[in-house]
Amino acid sequence: MNRFILFSACIFLFSCMSAQTLESPDSLLRKARKELAVLTSQEFAGRGYLNGGHKKAADYLAKRFNQMGLQAAAYDGLGRRSYLQPFEMQINLVREASVELSGKKLEAGRDFIISRFSGGGQLTDVKVVDCKYGLEARPSIEGKVVMFREGLPEKISKDAEKKKAYAERSSDLSKIQAMMGYRPAGIIILRSKLTAAFGGEAAPIPIIELQEDNMPSKIKKITLKIEAGVTTIGTQNVAAMLRGSEKPDSFIIVSAHYDHLGTYSGAYFTGANDNASGTVMLLSMAEYFSKHKPKFSMLFIGFGAEECGLKGSQYYVEKDPLVELRKTKFVLNLDLMGNGVDGIMAVCGKDYPVLYERLVALNEELKAVPSVKARPNAPNSDHYFFVLKGVPAFFIFTMGGPKHYHDIYDNAENLQFSKYVEVRELLIRFLEAF
Ligand SMILES: [Zn+2]
Repeated sequence: MNRFILFSACIFLFSCMSAQTLESPDSLLRKARKELAVLTSQEFAGRGYLNGGHKKAADYLAKRFNQMGLQAAAYDGLGRRSYLQPFEMQINLVREASVELSGKKLEAGRDFIISRFSGGGQLTDVKVVDCKYGLEARPSIEGKVVMFREGLPEKISKDAEKKKAYAERSSDLSKIQAMMGYRPAGIIILRSKLTAAFGGEAAPIPIIELQEDNMPSKIKKITLKIEAGVTTIGTQNVAAMLRGSEKPDSFIIVSAHYDHLGTYSGAYFTGANDNASGTVMLLSMAEYFSKHKPKFSMLFIGFGAEECGLKGSQYYVEKDPLVELRKTKFVLNLDLMGNGVDGIMAVCGKDYPVLYERLVALNEELKAVPSVKARPNAPNSDHYFFVLKGVPAFFIFTMGGPKHYHDIYDNAENLQFSKYVEVRELLIRFLEAF
């Protein structure tokens, strides 16, 4: 840190401390790191659906809300007040996976992941047929494992017209579907970067993704065992309420999804940035407002199953809003709060320009982050279904820093919290002005 930065940091520290009853940035960051360590610990199993990870994370949030003196805002299955709002969903869940090439065991998460379309299965020393980019399915793959690369070859992707002609055939799914007609025993997709995700369907055969750089130049045979399949899972949102002093019938929701991609076979997807960071910020904001009572009422919600297709927030909005949607004035959804050196994005800033301009002006006053950008609504986090129902919402994510996303490297060690204090301050002040 150079002197100039140190000087401006001091001014910022001072303005933060005055607004936050002398809670210093150091203390806020220390607390944030502590919460992050809990949420990303192996005990919480990537906040997924093996080893009770999602349940442990939800119980932890409920415990923290309770410590802050916030009311339980949901009901359990028996109609009793609870912080947990239960719901069910279907996902394709991987329980176990092992892969061997020429007798060498691959490492889950680093060398391979299981495709969200994969079914279970066991293959021993089965021949691998390299189909380049998988654009031409071949009858000779029956009973063998077919391998292809993601996307399109350079000579096609660099030619705009050819690229357009191949557009429909270039996705993983269309390649998989084309291959399935020739009855392969399994499918390998070679990738430059592994990005894990949950799906809701399972093909009848194993489908794995390999990190191409870590592989031998020729893959001739493969041995693998995968336990996966579509299953119904009971999970939950976590919701706590704070009654407003002047407008108790007017609600603001602060939300962050606490779930992530879980674990299998030694690979832990701890989701430090996505979205332990937002969960930490949610808890910190809940604590702040529990000590500085707002005029309006607030709901603090940790949404579950966001990584399974926004299932928790969809359930809340469409099946069981804990507060009438028409009384909900605004939703602030926090996802990916780990950085901010390149500013923040307000998804839905384009849908609510007056609110967006207010956020921009406040940022100019506080000099919190270098820029506040805007995008239209999109189904990329838990704000989405609220906006479809006419409830104004922003999904705020931070920009800049390491690019780890849906992989084993999105961990606490790699999370920088570069603008955590500044972004927190900006958002608290933004909400206080409602
Ligand atoms: Zn995610």
